[in-house]
Amino acid sequence: RCGFVAIVGRPNVGKSTLMNHILGQKLSITSRRPQTTRHQVLGIKTEDDVQVVYVDTPGMHKLEKDRNKAINRYMNQTASSALKDVDLVIFIVDRMRWTDEDEVVLQKLQHVKCPVILAINKMDRLEEKDALLPYLEEVAQKYNFDTIIPTSAQHGHNLPQLEDRVRALM
Ligand code: GDP
Ligand code: MG
Repeated sequence: RCGFVAIVGRPNVGKSTLMNHILGQKLSITSRRPQTTRHQVLGIKTEDDVQVVYVDTPGMHKLEKDRNKAINRYMNQTASSALKDVDLVIFIVDRMRWTDEDEVVLQKLQHVKCPVILAINKMDRLEEKDALLPYLEEVAQKYNFDTIIPTSAQHGHNLPQLEDRVRALM
């Protein structure tokens, strides 16, 4: 079995960190500065019976901000085109905050036909775990996600569970 998995989300939520952790390599540049990933970065993970191609994408952002910046348009286009012909999408958001830019990504996801896993990342930074519950409810109402999973891309928290689900969907 094999398949393509697109990793999407607004800038800085941890897309590249997640891919690197899953691949066990520093394939994609990660940075506190947004817009570090400007092109698609592919990582292939081959296991006994399944091969998964992860596609790290530039963060999508609102074009109103810098409408005329060619690089911003280019990054959004790159991220959008990664959604074509994939078997699965991992949509990453930051814990505790749903922004207009998350909404932009969600709008793009209305057009995809494959399952979408929602990863709520940076859980290691969530001091009050209970505070996540109302947020989860709100986010869950926005789309029919295949799975919603709290993760820490940096520490690897719940990434084996995420990968289990990815394998199951290939
Ligand atoms: P991207 O723009 O979505 O690719 O985000 P990056 O992977 O480049 O990460 C942006 C910043 O968030 C970097 O400083 C990462 O170290 C940090 N980061 C990513 N994942 C986590 C996480 O799970 N927990 C914490 N505390 N920081 C994270
Ligand atoms: Mg990145």
